Amino acid sequence: MPSVPPRRPGWGPAAMRAVRQDRALDRIRALHAPVKHGRRTICGHCSAYDGERPTTPAVRYPCPTIRAIDEPDD
Ligand SMILES: [Zn+2]
Repeated sequence: MPSVPPRRPGWGPAAMRAVRQDRALDRIRALHAPVKHGRRTICGHCSAYDGERPTTPAVRYPCPTIRAIDEPDD
């Protein structure tokens, strides 16, 4: 169950939202975790890794999702 950060003095709506968004990004990173496959590192989620092999064409890590959240676009 997702936990909501406790309300503290000085924690306005923007700070609360920032904490929630930060946690959401952590969940996305955990979902799109890197997996060693042979000599390559692939995204376990995007490659539908089944524990032994990708079940779709392997997507190199960092995948487009990780790049979208971690790499500045400017
Ligand atoms: Zn991915």
